[in-house]
Amino acid sequence: MSVLIFVDQAEGQIRKASLEALSYGVALAKQIGTTANAVVLGNLAKNAADLGSYGVSKVYHGESDTFNTMDAQAYTNAIMEAVQKSNAEVIVFSHNQTGRAVAPRIAAKLKAGLVAGAVALPDTSNGFAVRKSVFSGKAFANVAITSPVKVITVNPNSFRIAETGSETAQVEKLDATADNAKVKAATVNKVQGEVPLTEAEIVVSGGRGMKGPENWGILEDLAHSLHAALACSRPVADAHWRPHHEHVGQTGIQVSPNLYIAVGISGAIQHLAGVNRSKVMVVINKDAEAPFFKAADYGVVGDLFEIVPKLTEEIKKL
Ligand code: FAD
Repeated sequence: MSVLIFVDQAEGQIRKASLEALSYGVALAKQIGTTANAVVLGNLAKNAADLGSYGVSKVYHGESDTFNTMDAQAYTNAIMEAVQKSNAEVIVFSHNQTGRAVAPRIAAKLKAGLVAGAVALPDTSNGFAVRKSVFSGKAFANVAITSPVKVITVNPNSFRIAETGSETAQVEKLDATADNAKVKAATVNKVQGEVPLTEAEIVVSGGRGMKGPENWGILEDLAHSLHAALACSRPVADAHWRPHHEHVGQTGIQVSPNLYIAVGISGAIQHLAGVNRSKVMVVINKDAEAPFFKAADYGVVGDLFEIVPKLTEEIKKL
């Protein structure tokens, strides 16, 4: 028995959310007294053996170039090969786009219980209860997995990345390739931005209170000073003030940064559904009755066009 962690990469770089899942899996293996191994697909900028520094004993590597674009079926087949080779009983993913697409397929193939969006290590003192956030981050549930094989996806920004040493892991090549993938990316359009939204520790988000796309410069300055990613509410994306990939909420991207700064956003339930898992929420709104203030940790009542430039100025002094 062992714990197997799927480590996701983009352009050869391991994603931050995957390193969090990796640290989660290694800590879990330690807790239940077993070994942790990793599986990685596609070309890596660094040596796969270097993942040993996060505490894994072995890395199963599907080296084929064909894995450089994600195909859920091809990834499932390759990860299943690693599951069988490592005799894994717990398989850990990040709760990012790839994890959300692949983990349920793995769980179905293994007839395993799946908990999606874990925020803490399981309580293994009596069964295997995994804590996850529910109702758009309004509550937590402890969900017991009763099947012998278990699959967990770990919510981004819920678990600290821990390097455990400088050891190198043993690397075993996988036979699987994505040559027969049913879906292949024809073209890839890269999203410009300083920090990817789903991985950002700080998100600066604008709503209809910004009045128009020409005013976004003040949010860009604030985001730049904080090394933050930019986001927006749905009407802003629908009106083409900002690109759709910045839209957060129930029908957009779900984020869980350490700090979410909402500027000129009313805080409709559909918006909160995508941002409620943020550790700290700061709201700037001129309407003291805006619903967002009920969900916020800190609120500033006032005109965003006065407050945001002053805030940026102060942050730049730090
Ligand atoms: P508004 O509600 O118009 O709020 C603008 C805010 O700016 C107001 O609170 C106002 O007081 C403030 N303001 C104005 N001027 C200033 C100023 N000068 N200084 C400071 N504050 C100012 N929405 C999402 O965001 N994401 C989703 O995923 C999403 N999914 C949806 C799914 C469904 C099925 C439906 C029905 C709706 C969905 N919505 C979603 C829309 C959602 O219900 C709200 O309409 C939307 O979130 C409102 O956007 P907003 O807060 O930017 O605009």
